[in-house]
Amino acid sequence: MCNVIFLNQETKKLYNDLNSGRGLYNSDEKITVLNESNFKSSVYGTKNAWLVEFYNSWCGFCHRFAPIWRTLATDISAWQDVVTIGAVDCANDDNNPLCREYEIMYYPMLKFFPSDSKVGFLGNEVEKGKTVDSIRTSIVELLRKEQTAGRGASWPNLTPYRSNDVKNLWKNVPTNVQFIFLIFEDTDSLTGMEVILDLQVIKSIQIRYVTNENEALVKLMGVSMFPSIVALESNMSVTPLKTSDSSRLSFRKVIKTFLKARSIDVPKEETVVDPGEWSNIKPPDLVAIMAAGEEEKKALEIKAMGDVVFQADLEKTVMYALQHEISVHKSISGNALTALQNYLSILCKYLPIGPHGVTFLKKLRDKVYEAIEIKGEMFSSYMKELENEVGTPFSISSSQDWIGCKGSEGTFRGFPCGTWSTFHTLIVNSVLQKGDEKQFDSLEVLEAMLGYITHFFGCQDCSKHFQSMASESMRSSVFEPNDGIMWLWKAHNKVNKRLAGDASEDPLHPKIQFPSKETCPSCRRHDDTWDEEEVLKHLVKVYGKDHINQMNTASKPSLEVQASGRESHRLKEEKLGALEMKKQGTSAGNHENQRSHT
Ligand SMILES: Cc1cc2nc3c(=O)[nH]c(=O)nc-3n(C[C@H](O)[C@H](O)[C@H](O)COP(=O)(O)OP(=O)(O)OC[C@H]3O[C@@H](n4cnc5c(N)ncnc54)[C@H](O)[C@@H]3O)c2cc1C
Repeated sequence: MCNVIFLNQETKKLYNDLNSGRGLYNSDEKITVLNESNFKSSVYGTKNAWLVEFYNSWCGFCHRFAPIWRTLATDISAWQDVVTIGAVDCANDDNNPLCREYEIMYYPMLKFFPSDSKVGFLGNEVEKGKTVDSIRTSIVELLRKEQTAGRGASWPNLTPYRSNDVKNLWKNVPTNVQFIFLIFEDTDSLTGMEVILDLQVIKSIQIRYVTNENEALVKLMGVSMFPSIVALESNMSVTPLKTSDSSRLSFRKVIKTFLKARSIDVPKEETVVDPGEWSNIKPPDLVAIMAAGEEEKKALEIKAMGDVVFQADLEKTVMYALQHEISVHKSISGNALTALQNYLSILCKYLPIGPHGVTFLKKLRDKVYEAIEIKGEMFSSYMKELENEVGTPFSISSSQDWIGCKGSEGTFRGFPCGTWSTFHTLIVNSVLQKGDEKQFDSLEVLEAMLGYITHFFGCQDCSKHFQSMASESMRSSVFEPNDGIMWLWKAHNKVNKRLAGDASEDPLHPKIQFPSKETCPSCRRHDDTWDEEEVLKHLVKVYGKDHINQMNTASKPSLEVQASGRESHRLKEEKLGALEMKKQGTSAGNHENQRSHT
């Protein structure tokens, strides 16, 4: 199972690179990115040799090896006229023919192409080695062999100086060479060759190495220990140079210091951080990164969909409310029981859910209506029995994640968001279904929600705030069916206003006055006041049954199942949009008297 991870800059880049087929390297890393179209023209017939890594960007070993390859490429970037470091991503489908042709049987595979290789040559496989140093050593040995075999004529001389006559050194050097450095070392040392390659770009010098076998020259130069270095000038003066240690870096430094003192430009040192042995490097958890990347991508796509309600979120909310918020109560009786009965009643009537869901909710409601007291535990077992009897009520699995209500982190959004979405859906669909029936009262729907929030909603503060908003304005402002929709919209916006900038706010989903200008440009007038008729239309469009998005549900539930009469919902929406928003002049007192709370 993959771990849940949050993408940081580095892992996000990795996800994007893998997803877009960009591979593990880019050419600004001193690695030449090779592919089907540039491989042959780059590698064959060149003065420089090539060392190419064939890798697969999905393979963990290749990810481990990548820091080694990058470091090596930086470490020997000054050698590129002699040997160039390349990489081919065999995970990229476009490179399939190339990787097949070069017989890449495992990843990562290193192949060496000598200078002036001919088309058709498939490269010599090179042992990966464990560290940057060990691969560099293999390269130096390969280059020396190449030159000994007569190739690499344009490269600096990588063979030891065997003569005991220093005058010969000056015979074949270009006229601009001012200094020759001799590195004296043991026969098995490669430092001399490495320094030659490191500093080959400085055209006013030449470096040769001399092994301890050239005793005559060792004696002539007065060399008493290995390794050591002397600088020669064309007037035959000899300057022994002192190094702090016998490393390649220290030889490079002493030569550069000598040259700088004589006003000769030298290249800057590259910063090379050795990653150690590649087998010790922890590869990134690609599966988790890809999963997190996909999630983030999906979240952005969902956000870009604008104001959309997801069936999966509604069902998850109801599932959670029934299985946790209600079932957690030891005993439910009195006002709480009435609240539960009323809430189940509006769910049965107005929640868009498939036929199994409707049957399930109705049976559950009937059971609760029969009771004078119900224990949470019993409620829970009865739901299980019902599920066995009528089948699973939901079109989502219990592990289904939030979609529209998914927070950018686990602590944000989720159930409270789902509860608001469910409430808006219930009120809008109650009006769509029953709005033109005389006895319909949208306050009844709001009261049922209030009852649920008062007795069951886990967030106590939320519950208190909602109750006080309701007692302040709910009963005194809801007269017409649409008033219920609009009251809930206003109440929710009040909460949004209070919570804007609060620690509970998901930074990726800031609390706004809903709907935004982007999702409903017509909802605000020029003076930025609400055009409530347009807001109503927007709410109906967002929360109306027919607009609910069925993403990730098992099947599209039959949304018509609870429709009253023959009129389609769309038709009703149109009618509703045209409904006059103005109050009918009914006084609050009269209205209260006329209400029937059946
Ligand atoms: C009844 C209730 C009262 C709450 N009271 C509090 C409280 O007092 N203190 C507290 O800290 N938290 C409270 N919460 C939680 C809080 O309101 C948010 O639900 C929670 O912070 C998650 O916010 P969210 O960003 O997911 O968007 P939410 O505010 O949950 O909104 C969910 C979705 O509804 C839509 N929406 C937003 N505003 C409106 C609107 N005006 N009309 C129609 N649709 C809209 C948007 O698409 C939004 O994504 C309450 C929740 C509920 C259900």
